[in-house]
Amino acid sequence: MPFVGLGTWKADGGTVTEAVEVAIRTGYRHIDTAYVYQNEREVGAGIQTAVERGEVDREELFIVSKLWCTFHLPSLVRKACEKTLGDLGLDYLDLYLIHFPMGVKAGDELFPLDECEQVIPDGSSFLDTWEAMENLVDAGLVKGIGVSNFNKHQIEAILKKPGLKYKPAINQIECHPFLIQEKLINYCHSKDILITAYSPLGSPDRPWAFSGDPSLLDEQNVKKIASKYSKTPAQVLVRFHIQRNVTVVAKSVKPHRIRENFQVFDFALNEDDMNTLLGLNKNFRCFPFLWASKHKDYPLNTEY
Ligand code: NDP
Repeated sequence: MPFVGLGTWKADGGTVTEAVEVAIRTGYRHIDTAYVYQNEREVGAGIQTAVERGEVDREELFIVSKLWCTFHLPSLVRKACEKTLGDLGLDYLDLYLIHFPMGVKAGDELFPLDECEQVIPDGSSFLDTWEAMENLVDAGLVKGIGVSNFNKHQIEAILKKPGLKYKPAINQIECHPFLIQEKLINYCHSKDILITAYSPLGSPDRPWAFSGDPSLLDEQNVKKIASKYSKTPAQVLVRFHIQRNVTVVAKSVKPHRIRENFQVFDFALNEDDMNTLLGLNKNFRCFPFLWASKHKDYPLNTEY
């Protein structure tokens, strides 16, 4: 799995096709998408163009998508995967993740809420959803399966599931110097489960960002380290993961930034600088998922 991927959340349909084309031309081979981003058609158009122009073979790409919460009922999983494949214009995914452990009431609404602004559960168990994910591998629709936003106990439950056929290959989680996720990373690595870090730059364009929230790209130590290596803060923040053996997806729709975020293989942060970055941890989450905080499978009620 290529270490650095292009993120596509919040990349709107008007810009993301070109972003994907630029990324592939730059050398990215890993693209991160999801049904809920509502732009898989446009992401797929970028992939198709690059393949048709002969810039890359499909087999060289590592395309990741995610099962949305409203498709957790086992009877819906295959249909959801086929919809994503159709939109992307692909006949297989390299990796398909359960986006969140929480199953949510099926239907057209992505976030069906009750009167307390909480998502309405569908009563499913992610263990049954996992079995339906395993069937996608056997059907040849996906090469690998994994999870996202799962805590240690939830991963453990999958690993201990009677009759488990395939274990999760990946847990994709929020991770950056303000949330270093040491325990969850160590746990997953001890089980041979890779981590993908999302929001490595602190997701400054997340719609609920407050002006008072800490900013990774403006953090003084990050800036100082960047100038020491003649790199940018974003490059340091991406490189940080590579040196922890963590794959990483950064989003940009701007060609110069897409290129910048990939120029991270020609330098290495020394141990002191890695320790400085790790020392910035403050368990700050860009994503508290408050819309699901009462759900039985909400993942953030535990230490890790
Ligand atoms: P990122 O941390 O990647 O930050 C993206 C923001 O940073 C955008 O505003 C982008 O602006 C800006 N940016 C990008 N590159 C640079 C740069 N070099 N210098 C300065 N600013 C820059 O946030 P995301 O939350 O998007 O996370 C990355 C990806 O992770 C997502 O796109 C998605 O694919 C995945 N993800 C998965 C989640 C999950 O639940 N599994 C949750 C959240 C994210 P611009 O585009 O204008 O350049």
